[in-house]
Amino acid sequence: MIDPDLRDLYQEVILDHGRNPRHFGTLPNANHEAQGHNPLCGDRIHLFLRVDPSGRIDDVAFEGKGCAISIASASMMTDLILGKTVTEAHSLAAAFYHLAKGEPANEHADEEDMERIAVMSGVSQFPMRVKCATLAWHTFEDACAREAGGGSAA
Ligand code: ZN
Repeated sequence: MIDPDLRDLYQEVILDHGRNPRHFGTLPNANHEAQGHNPLCGDRIHLFLRVDPSGRIDDVAFEGKGCAISIASASMMTDLILGKTVTEAHSLAAAFYHLAKGEPANEHADEEDMERIAVMSGVSQFPMRVKCATLAWHTFEDACAREAGGGSAA
């Protein structure tokens, strides 16, 4: 159960990210990008990543249109993955999926990161909202598998 005070705090954080999304915009020199769509709610996210040769995410940006949860989640995600390696960000994504479904996260993510994603744990009580919250993370995983500019296959 989430403490009511904590729940209010979480709500504040989500509203703040929804109103003032971090890293909002495009990234002209991105080397990975993907678009995500949640048809249940109409949320759309376009995510841009620049991954350096060592596999570290050294810049990130997103554009999107959708409900407050989808935008807030994308905003929080960009904050969290910036500076991480792609591998670290993938395990955080896995932890996030567990959390959003109300399942225990077994991933060995950083404790501070786990506290930050816990802000979204309330969505587990609203099945319709789970897809809003996880859209950005699925789009991130798609982007990792894709080169920017529609793929390298000419
Ligand atoms: Zn939504």
